[in-house]
Amino acid sequence: MNIHEYQARELFEKFGVATSHGRVAFTPEEAQQTAQGLAGKKIVVKAQIHAGGRGKGHFTNGFKGGVHLCNTPEEAGQLASQMLGQTLVTHQTGPEGKVVNKVLVVEAVDISRELYFAILLDRATSTPVIIASTEGGMDIEAVAEKSPEKIFREFVHPLIGLQPYQTRKIAHALGLTGPLLGQASKLFTALYKLFIARDCSQIEVNPLVVTPDGQLLALDAKFNFDDNSLYRQADIVAMRDKTEEDPREVAASEFNLNYIGLDGNIACLVNGAGLAMSTMDIIQYCGGKPANFLDVGGGASKEQVAAAFRIILSDPNVQGILVNIFGGIMDCNVIATGIVAAARETGLSIPLVVRLEGNNVAAGKQTLAESGLTIISGNDLADAAQKIVQAVKAA
Ligand code: ADP
Ligand code: MG
Repeated sequence: MNIHEYQARELFEKFGVATSHGRVAFTPEEAQQTAQGLAGKKIVVKAQIHAGGRGKGHFTNGFKGGVHLCNTPEEAGQLASQMLGQTLVTHQTGPEGKVVNKVLVVEAVDISRELYFAILLDRATSTPVIIASTEGGMDIEAVAEKSPEKIFREFVHPLIGLQPYQTRKIAHALGLTGPLLGQASKLFTALYKLFIARDCSQIEVNPLVVTPDGQLLALDAKFNFDDNSLYRQADIVAMRDKTEEDPREVAASEFNLNYIGLDGNIACLVNGAGLAMSTMDIIQYCGGKPANFLDVGGGASKEQVAAAFRIILSDPNVQGILVNIFGGIMDCNVIATGIVAAARETGLSIPLVVRLEGNNVAAGKQTLAESGLTIISGNDLADAAQKIVQAVKAA
């Protein structure tokens, strides 16, 4: 799960991470009022969407940039009115962009250096890793590509936690000395505490800035939370903004389905994440494009299967469906019953290839055969994938 920058700043304040002051606004009037509260200071108005790269983004109406500096409350209101309700495209949103429904109005700070600081989970070592760079700001992707030696890494033992010698080491790598060293240690420690306490899988602060008067401040924040931990993070769940998520994924999450929307035309319904991955691969190998990842798991009910089928069919790009079930714990007849119920209800009109194997397969095949639905049967995974790709091309 992701949150907005303005929500991330609330977490910063709770955990004592130094940042500049600001407030979210939903209308140009609110933006102007908030800016008035920052009397006499320069102001930054920032589009709030679940994607980075806003500074260098553009709106589909031609307006450039999702992050703007201004001098007066009136200007802040005008900037907000140019962004609110408009679609912002950045290198992270894809060409369709994201609609801006709120802006952050925040005190501008003078910047002498822009640094990069992130905490992630490293899959290879199974530990948190801190990534830092002196080359923060809007071109960090280019830095990672062209001068990877400027990216510093520090691994943290999950049981021991981030140690003071490590915060000093990172500060040193970032060229933070003198009074900045103490601020850096405090800020890194606070961020690490936040990372652990809130079950984050990513915290990215870009930029972390040094001001001319010697302050270290987090000016941007991108968070990602481990969905498996949300059951114990009520205040994080309360920050969820479903309007930022793929509507297909929102629907799937209501039924506890592991669904990820993609942009192809062949939907797949599979049990087991590994089998789902290989099903997507083999669809691609046979010349098709998967429309989704969907793992219904081992213990799905027929209601969940029916819901999964409805979500698949609600995607206008879907031109064919491949059901690939290797029933171990999963009962093939539960799958078959769910499919038949959903197909009847929605009036299935696109090709459907089903490959069923394993637990209670005979009953499953019988349910499908007796349903009266036009179902193409796949003998094995390769056969099923070829058949769905051909059927979609023919249709
Ligand atoms: P994004 O990463 O989505 O482009 P940022 O919040 O990082 O958005 O903003 C882009 C740039 O705008 C920053 O790298 C920084 O130079 C500048 N900026 C952002 N917030 C402020 C602020 N409060 N004061 C001054 N400059 C800012
Ligand atoms: Mg940024």
